[in-house]
Amino acid sequence: MSGLELRNIVKNFGAVEVIRDVSLHVNDGEFVAFVGPSGCGKSTLLRLIAGLDKPTGGNIAIDGKDVTAISAADRGLAMVFQSYALYPHMSVRENLAFGLENTKVAKAEIEARIMDAARMLEIEPFLQRRPGQLSGGQRQRVAIGRAIVRRPDAFLLDEPLSNLDAELRVSMRAELAALHARLKATMIYVTHDQVEAMTLADRIVVLRGGRIEQVGTPLELYNKPANRFVAGFIGAPH
Ligand code: ADP
Ligand code: MG
Repeated sequence: MSGLELRNIVKNFGAVEVIRDVSLHVNDGEFVAFVGPSGCGKSTLLRLIAGLDKPTGGNIAIDGKDVTAISAADRGLAMVFQSYALYPHMSVRENLAFGLENTKVAKAEIEARIMDAARMLEIEPFLQRRPGQLSGGQRQRVAIGRAIVRRPDAFLLDEPLSNLDAELRVSMRAELAALHARLKATMIYVTHDQVEAMTLADRIVVLRGGRIEQVGTPLELYNKPANRFVAGFIGAPH
């Protein structure tokens, strides 16, 4: 089966159950948003999908292949963090190239990917600058660019816009939608901003206390929230 499959995922930190029996299928090319209040397990679930952390129970399959024991680097996914996580002592170009240089990807191909991503994200003029010489929005674009040059099958984005001011967040939202339309890659997008989820996602996964409360299209969640919690979170009448 194609796509990403989570089967009965459990994650404990010590005695604390942070993810409780989460099962979910994400189709290839789908834009799925994880929403829910702070501490509900969104980042933890994303890290488990990325392979940055191992589940306590359950398994994860990509295109029918069990990847639960496979390292992050070999999953064909790329993660974008809220804090940009750029290397401050490297130029934008070096940040984009980092991690690709010692792989099978040829030098000319790396260069072509950097230029393509830079054009797409309009960061071409800043390629020689260091992150400290960029605005928050520009830094966020570089962080997204670093994921794009890897040509991942799926992007995992953890609140990528939450450090930006409101105006920039709205314009970056439109850019992310355009990017998804162009790349046709799967996107799993963590946000605590329900408007962002409602405008961007094909489907929304509402989490509370490490469990899935409801999965559905924005319209389904709005029109038929499973309970008051979902209704309240989505901003639907209840
Ligand atoms: P969210 O991203 O939805 O705000 P997180 O996934 O970051 O939530 O955290 C979910 C819960 O797991 C929180 O209670 C948090 O304190 C706890 N948690 C997250 N990471 C760790 C960790 N490495 N060790 C212990 N507890 C953690
Ligand atoms: Mg988080």
